[in-house]
Amino acid sequence: MRPLFGLFLLVISTTWAQQDLSWKADIFASERENEMAEQDALTRYFGNDKKNTTFFPTWDTMKAKVGDFININSTRLKNHNYNEMTAWLRALRLNYPNITHLYSAGKSTEGRELWVLIVSDKPKEHELLEAELKIVGNMHGNEVVGREAVLYLAEILCLNYGRNKYLTDLVDNARFHLMPSMNPDGYEKGFAGDRISAMGRANANDVDLNRNFPTKYPEHRESSGGSDPEIENIAVMKWLQSYPFVLSTNLHGGSLVANYPYDDSVTGQDGIYTAVSFDLKKRIARDRTRTRKPPLSADDKLFVELSYRYARAHTKMWKTGRRCGLSADGDNFINGITNGAGWYHLAGGMQDWQYENTNCLEITVEMGCFKFPTDDMMPKLWEEHQYSLLSFMEMGLTGVTGLVTDRNNNTVANATISVDTGKDIISTESGEYWRLLPPGDHQVTVSARGLESDTFTVTVVPGARAVRHDITLLACGDNETKSELYIRGRGKNLIAVLSFDEIGGEAVDELARLTCTGDFVIDKDVSLMLIPNMTNELKGRLSDFDPAAVLIISEGIVETVTFSVSENEPRLFDKAKMDESLLKALGNSIECDRKLLESKTALRVDDLQLKKAFELGISIGCDAKDLQKKAATIGTIADMIKNELIKDSVSEFSVVPSAHPGDHFTPDQMILVTNAAVAELQRKECVQELTHGANKFYLMGAGKPPYTLIAAVEKRTEAMAYEMMSTYCNPDTKSQFSDILDKSTLVFMPEIPHTQLNCHDYDTISPFKLLFDEAIGAVPELDFVIVLATGGMKVRYINDTIGIGKSIAETYRANHDLMKSTESEGCAKGFPNEKEAIRAFSWNDNASRMDKSGVDHPADNLDALLVQIGCCYENMASGHLYSENQRSMKSALIERTRGVRIIGGIDGMTVSVDHMHKSLPLLRGGRRFIPLPNGEHLVKVRTPGGQMHAQFAVVISDKHPTSEKFIGVQSSNMVIITIASILMIVCCTFMCRQRVTSVLNRRGFFNGIGSNHGFERIPLYKSDDEDEDEVFDLQKL
Ligand SMILES: [Zn+2]
Repeated sequence: MRPLFGLFLLVISTTWAQQDLSWKADIFASERENEMAEQDALTRYFGNDKKNTTFFPTWDTMKAKVGDFININSTRLKNHNYNEMTAWLRALRLNYPNITHLYSAGKSTEGRELWVLIVSDKPKEHELLEAELKIVGNMHGNEVVGREAVLYLAEILCLNYGRNKYLTDLVDNARFHLMPSMNPDGYEKGFAGDRISAMGRANANDVDLNRNFPTKYPEHRESSGGSDPEIENIAVMKWLQSYPFVLSTNLHGGSLVANYPYDDSVTGQDGIYTAVSFDLKKRIARDRTRTRKPPLSADDKLFVELSYRYARAHTKMWKTGRRCGLSADGDNFINGITNGAGWYHLAGGMQDWQYENTNCLEITVEMGCFKFPTDDMMPKLWEEHQYSLLSFMEMGLTGVTGLVTDRNNNTVANATISVDTGKDIISTESGEYWRLLPPGDHQVTVSARGLESDTFTVTVVPGARAVRHDITLLACGDNETKSELYIRGRGKNLIAVLSFDEIGGEAVDELARLTCTGDFVIDKDVSLMLIPNMTNELKGRLSDFDPAAVLIISEGIVETVTFSVSENEPRLFDKAKMDESLLKALGNSIECDRKLLESKTALRVDDLQLKKAFELGISIGCDAKDLQKKAATIGTIADMIKNELIKDSVSEFSVVPSAHPGDHFTPDQMILVTNAAVAELQRKECVQELTHGANKFYLMGAGKPPYTLIAAVEKRTEAMAYEMMSTYCNPDTKSQFSDILDKSTLVFMPEIPHTQLNCHDYDTISPFKLLFDEAIGAVPELDFVIVLATGGMKVRYINDTIGIGKSIAETYRANHDLMKSTESEGCAKGFPNEKEAIRAFSWNDNASRMDKSGVDHPADNLDALLVQIGCCYENMASGHLYSENQRSMKSALIERTRGVRIIGGIDGMTVSVDHMHKSLPLLRGGRRFIPLPNGEHLVKVRTPGGQMHAQFAVVISDKHPTSEKFIGVQSSNMVIITIASILMIVCCTFMCRQRVTSVLNRRGFFNGIGSNHGFERIPLYKSDDEDEDEVFDLQKL
């Protein structure tokens, strides 16, 4: 390797003249990078405090703080293989039995132990309120500095216990779980002196463990991450859930940077964290994507602090600029830290999974430019990192901590501890919680089912130990807790619910009770202020709350009344529909006083002086019967109003409520719809079921071109596909669709094997290419696909080789009530540039990694329409999707039949039409549909050899949109080909049918939309139902 590097150095030394580019070289920044260092996240969050050594101790500050301690003899600072590592750990356990405990978190694929050494004053037990901290090394088998650093750290903690004050204090006040190697099998395949190779990176099954965790966006998963979790990761996931870990670092190598969540983002792109980022070369590209949702976690500021804490106490990691400059692929970082996706995106990583699924906060540290250094490099690496590890782990003892109890002094497990900016933390079995927080004042809300939540303020001082704050929660509905005013929820959208009369007041009280017990769960984006008996004294509290909407609950016949001036009314609010929904929920009531219509009510509402709020009166009947139902209805209306308010004001794309509020009252409607569809299918009156690989297709219609695939790729759009099939099959409604069913063939794919549980705004649908390759495998005549998705309110046409994508897109939009009136998409008012209602895509837009493999996809020639028909936050019901889209679908499919159907050709023949540059091949059976606009067209059919076979004119009009032309081929070849293809079809039909199973048993179909925090549903233990746990692995499709 050395001579080669020498040569290389010569070449690049012209770029970085006079710089020492050895592995020990310092980091050097360009002027531009130095400028950027003054605008990055660290500066934005901490300003000049980034230079404050109390916030961020340097290597020297830490040296002084830790003081003298016994370090490890430098002759022992070298690489340790599995046996040597095990011996090191056993020696510590034997020599320091009072402060160590050695256990294994599980076994590796080849049966090696995943050792964990605990170092703490009471190593074998969890002491109440003592923080559990951990470090994981060597997850990538050939990235070994972390493995060694963990061994050394364990030893200095032991060696100096009772000798050095600083280190003794850590051991007394925290419990360290130190895992030197998460991938001992990979390690044994690596080699010392490896700077950048992948030798030994993966585990023994050749799976990259840091790509193998369940992922939030399964379609971003790389093939290197395998499919099911590897046993190392299963062991680690169990481990992470068996201790209440507070803070962790995962030590890697190959660069020098502290990396924090998220590693993956909605769009799955690289380098999209913030406007300012690490790589100048990617700046321009990123500027274009700046409006995309950044992969910020709720704890972004805290993660920046934690990461810089590590970087700053390193001798040089904290520096801005180029590091690992040995080769052209050296990395540039600003201030030595980076958001994961801001560097490059990664699905299935450990830190993201942990952040979403446990209380623990973890960062990933790249420890140096050599993944597997030689022994002689180790002393210097340890010197560089020793204080970083301590400075970082010290942070595990900060923030706020305490016990949650109820009035009877019972500890409250599973209480939610939430803060203004940061993820929720869940209290332990013993009612403990730890919440790390950046310096400053924070509002902390503690809530638990069945108990009134409570909020307190805590001030976090840099450099100080955690503030102890215990909290006692009162029970819901306790007489002692009856209040004149309740706050429920912590969302950004503020809605007040109040009453002036007794029956209304009882309903508001009941809503307070239901939202406390958890029997009614309000939307997470909403905060409710509930005032059962509105008085003048409470006016001040109400106006301080500054609600965007006020619901005035009253006795009276079931109806709504708006008091607002019209500009306060949400654009989407539809009184008639709201009243209809209300009646559906509460039923008709007998005539009684309509208090809302009395002028004194109007005066009292006026008197609230809420000039900006949408004021809606809701009368709920003339008695206090069915209070629970009434309260739940009011709560549901509050959620709906929130949806409508958001739609008016939001500046991001993930919004649009249902156009049919009534659907919100009948979430079971979807189940009915799909049940009906299944029953219909089972009679098989009009569909042919076809199983191909893991995919199931339902064919319907004329059995001749054009063939349109209708694929629901998300859980939320499945019901729509079923309802559509059901309607198209139903003898009562079938005739409405004869224009489509008599002239074309529909291929439904109502579910895909790895259904998307999450909502996306699609920048690409390339990841679905493999799926459509499969569809073409099953039905080779396919030339068009309609993809049913959500994540927006818009249509995208893809490819357009047959020249109808745009016109079908326009037809679709023109027939969609929510899309037709606006140029920008309904969910994205803030970003008109990127969010047109209609836009073209190509398969290669934002091409996925797969496409770099150079693999040809049959689907490359497929034209597609991506219809995004619901926004991300609209998650309450999707039963309305079909009714909202039926006219669009029908019109688009009728538009699909406009053109000429060629039949009777042979394989290899091509067709071209006057205006078309590209000639199209005939598909299976020598058939193809050529879409054409109205008018007269000249069609030319050529033989496989390119000679003219037939030439004719066709006239297309609204009256006769579909023309058919038989192009006779008098060839013996033709007969053979036809017989062969008939045989093939018969065989396929026979074999494929072997795999047809009952539709009713369809995977997860009746299990609802269960999703585990939006992550893939991968249980820690294998379930009996294999399908249920499959990962969306495109390579497998
Ligand atoms: Zn790594």
